[in-house]
Amino acid sequence: MALNYRDIGLKVGLEVHRQLNTARKLFCDCPTEPVESGQKIEFMRRLREAQSELGEVDPAARFEARRSRTIVYRADMGNVCLVEMDEEPPHQLNSEALRIALTFAKMVGAQPVDEVHVMRKIVIDGSNTTGFQRTCIVATGGSVRIKGKEVPIQTITLEEDAARIIETGEDTVVYDLSRLGVPLIEVSTAPVIGSPEEAYDAAASIGKLLRATQGVKRGLGTVRQDLNISVSGGGLVEVKGVQELEEVPKVVDYEVRRLLHLDKVRSMLRARGVKAADVLGQPLHDLTGLLASSKSRLISSWVLKGGKVMGVRLPGFSGLLGGGDVRLGKELSDYAKAWTGIEGIIHSDELPGYGLTKEEVDAVRSVLGAGGGDGFAIAVGPESKAREALYFVLERAAVAVEEVPGETRGAKPGGMTVYLRPRPGAARMYPETDVPPSRVTRGLLEEIERNLPPTLEELASRLTSKFGLSTQLVWELINAEAVEDFESLVNTGVQPSFIASLLTETMKDLKRSGVRVENIDLRRLHGYLKLVAEGRTAKESAREVLAYLANNPDSSSLDAVRALGLLAPTVEEVDREVEALVEELAPKFSGKDPFGPLMGELMKRYRGRVDGAMLSRLLREKLRERGIAK
Ligand SMILES: [Zn+2]
Repeated sequence: MALNYRDIGLKVGLEVHRQLNTARKLFCDCPTEPVESGQKIEFMRRLREAQSELGEVDPAARFEARRSRTIVYRADMGNVCLVEMDEEPPHQLNSEALRIALTFAKMVGAQPVDEVHVMRKIVIDGSNTTGFQRTCIVATGGSVRIKGKEVPIQTITLEEDAARIIETGEDTVVYDLSRLGVPLIEVSTAPVIGSPEEAYDAAASIGKLLRATQGVKRGLGTVRQDLNISVSGGGLVEVKGVQELEEVPKVVDYEVRRLLHLDKVRSMLRARGVKAADVLGQPLHDLTGLLASSKSRLISSWVLKGGKVMGVRLPGFSGLLGGGDVRLGKELSDYAKAWTGIEGIIHSDELPGYGLTKEEVDAVRSVLGAGGGDGFAIAVGPESKAREALYFVLERAAVAVEEVPGETRGAKPGGMTVYLRPRPGAARMYPETDVPPSRVTRGLLEEIERNLPPTLEELASRLTSKFGLSTQLVWELINAEAVEDFESLVNTGVQPSFIASLLTETMKDLKRSGVRVENIDLRRLHGYLKLVAEGRTAKESAREVLAYLANNPDSSSLDAVRALGLLAPTVEEVDREVEALVEELAPKFSGKDPFGPLMGELMKRYRGRVDGAMLSRLLREKLRERGIAK
């Protein structure tokens, strides 16, 4: 049954984050593109409970602090300086980044601020060496239009990108610092988006305008979309880190189903008379002895290591824990896992299973005192962790009776989401006193307005008329963010429409079949097209050559063509071969036109190596010389 999103009160707000393609970082002179200097550094920090200067402890910060992980930072000195290492104050705000943000602001009719004030936003996961992220509002207001609806923009912000996680261990997290400080623009809409499709349209529309500024980075990892989602009567859910545009509507759809399912479960728990206090008061039971000889691999592996199997009754929860891709059991175990790091949490609706037999499940029920209407949860691991995990299961189960909670969640590929941490409190920002404000002068704004870049629609019509491409192909180029590449490849002299479809359809097709197209760099692509232009290889086998280049990042385009046996013979060689063929076979066709059969023979020999038009021309010449054809 199709959902009526208006009836359920769906409200979505969108935050689009995109890296800016500036030469330098936001608050220092380091490059924004990775550089290998060979000089590596590594240092460590332990996370403390982050306290804001106002003295309040942030709930999200407390969550991270209780994990008490060691943070390891790695960097190549080509990409970082003392600023990223928090050994030197930040420099003045990057004026190139400010210009790009102001350009976007003008394009959406937002009102720039008079002075840009840099703030510190508490960041709790160690992804910033300082413990906060620097951020500043550049403009407010403005809007984007989607299918006749106005989506207001609330703020346009500049901020520093965070360090990138490269390893997560039980007690350590390793970050690479090269991305830290790369300028990001953040565009936040008002929470007026009312369906998954609208969320897609709004994100696509903002993305298009950002690209039209000609100041944003391209490719995987340069865009991140966060979604704030709520339905009537539920808490606000923030979903972080949606990378692909196509995932935006899937995330909204998944969250709506999840929120509605949890709301239904809550009503059923209440109808059954389940009380939160009763849930919280459930005692834990040690089931290790009872299940010591179980065939369950999950259990026996922990018991062998000296771990424990702990269990707890969930009164009135029978049948409400399982379900499809949205289920309360997953909420309980995700929550406990996020807080304790423990993996081995099982609930009664998935049993018998995990190698546990019906008899063992019955025995567990009887030890826990769980009747037919009750559910239960089991946690396996080191005793303290297993106990702790079950307390978190109880806490989350008690909340399930009371409300559908607001929380921060992370996006998973395919549109699913997973619990990340509590929502941060309000007191997260305070002024960055090390950076003086930047004035936005009238002169600067006038200059930006005079030099506004063309919209993507204007760009499309320019490409269509200049290169004779179809409208569809032009938009494919724009959507694949391949216009720049296209323009730098047309000077090879190869037909523009061929280059355009190579960069769009062929690349997409290769990617779909699992080829790592990101390995195909522009330089080798250029080299390959030169070979095509010079007649050294035929363009029919482009797909094969590109796949080879992707799989062999160290091969040149000439190596690739040669290794695939696609290198054309020289014109003299072909000439000699055609001559010999005509000499040998033409007499057999006395009276009939031998062109067709001979051309067939030539194509068999040279397909993919020599251009068909050239073969046909040569053949005709030879036949004419002999007076066989006209
Ligand atoms: Zn730096």
